[in-house]
Amino acid sequence: MSDGPTYGFDTLQIHAGARPDPATGARQTPIYQTTAYVFRDADHAAALFNLQEVGYIYSRLTNPTVAVLQERVATLEGGVGAVCCSSGHAAQIMALFPLMGPGCNVVASTRLYGGTVTQFSQTIKRFGWSAKFVDTDDLDAVKAAIDDNTRAVFCESIANPGGYVTDIRALADVADAAGIPLIVDNTSATPYLCRPIEHGATLVVHSTTKYLTGNGTVTGGCIVDSGKFDWSANDKFPSLSAPEPAYHGLKFHETFGPLAFTFHGIAVGLRDLGMTMNPQAAHYTLMGIETLSLRMQRHVENAEKIAAWLEKDDRVDYVTYAGLPSSPYYERVKKYYPKGAGALFTFAVKGGYDACVKLVNALEIFSHVANLGDARSLIIHSASTTHRQLTPEQQEAAGAGPNVVRVSIGIEDADDLIADLDQALSKACA
Ligand SMILES: *Cc1c(COP(=O)(O)O)cnc(C)c1O
Repeated sequence: MSDGPTYGFDTLQIHAGARPDPATGARQTPIYQTTAYVFRDADHAAALFNLQEVGYIYSRLTNPTVAVLQERVATLEGGVGAVCCSSGHAAQIMALFPLMGPGCNVVASTRLYGGTVTQFSQTIKRFGWSAKFVDTDDLDAVKAAIDDNTRAVFCESIANPGGYVTDIRALADVADAAGIPLIVDNTSATPYLCRPIEHGATLVVHSTTKYLTGNGTVTGGCIVDSGKFDWSANDKFPSLSAPEPAYHGLKFHETFGPLAFTFHGIAVGLRDLGMTMNPQAAHYTLMGIETLSLRMQRHVENAEKIAAWLEKDDRVDYVTYAGLPSSPYYERVKKYYPKGAGALFTFAVKGGYDACVKLVNALEIFSHVANLGDARSLIIHSASTTHRQLTPEQQEAAGAGPNVVRVSIGIEDADDLIADLDQALSKACA
């Protein structure tokens, strides 16, 4: 596809980044199942290794199938470039890696995916990095948490699981004033429902494992760069602004301009951390993205119907779906999510812990799994699974109290899903 006119989302989700295979004319993007690429000659090889020419060397760094996915996600998010990697968690480390150094910190929302809380509060300490968790609705607290060693602010667009909607613009303004980037995990919203870069985000990260792939087949991650951040405005980001010893003193920002972060992610991040996405995974995710808008429309339609039905049901205490008029975030949804607030929410069952366990056991269409963003409807009782290790107070704070289940509404018939919930609630609350 040419760079011509600005195409609509539905066109770009099928075509962006792809062209018929130059060798065979294959219309679908081939799975380039190869580790290495033959150099034209020794000069070509030298130019590639010096980053003087862009091309394929070795699949830990770049692969043509993965490259199509990178360009597709970058285009859908409105960024200038993207780097794919092996999982959403890998994407988070890869996003922080060029920004942080020993002693640096990230100011992160308290409302994050459970695995991210663990990665940020425990594991990154091994690199000498740390995270400060703040309530991102309290902008003064965010400002107060940012110190001379803070290198990024991190949040999720729609936070999993509690139906929390982040005021991305307000956070972006705070990060901007401090001269640091805002990183938004856009996994639960997808670029179809929200494009954080349009609201001031510098970087967007994804677990492509979820809605982008859309059928629970492969893990993957992606970091999209807006290309708008000035990495040389202060001396906080030497990996991007200062000479890089491993490339004969090349300065990424000076050399690659708006693509500095993306080139660094490949030439240093993937080269040395090796969290590479494999071409098979990229293929599955490309297949998924072709129908992203259609699926998200149905996910939202079903979630709205089911959340409204649950909210009226006597056996249910409350429902935390941001798309319900009763949600405290309903006004933010109108601003950031005109096409709907996603398909992920929690609800509280009156019978408490025991009723929740019976509910997940009695459901027939919903699968009891630790995943989200599948075409299938999924449910998890966090208190007896993912949040088992936490104290009741910590569970409550995480929106995962003993009486709460989280659902990821799939794209099946909404009436069938409601009937399934109805019969299982009857058993659970008998
Ligand atoms: C699943 C998920 C992650 C982690 O992604 P993996 O692909 O499982 O590593 C991060 N953030 C959010 C919001 C997620 O849902």
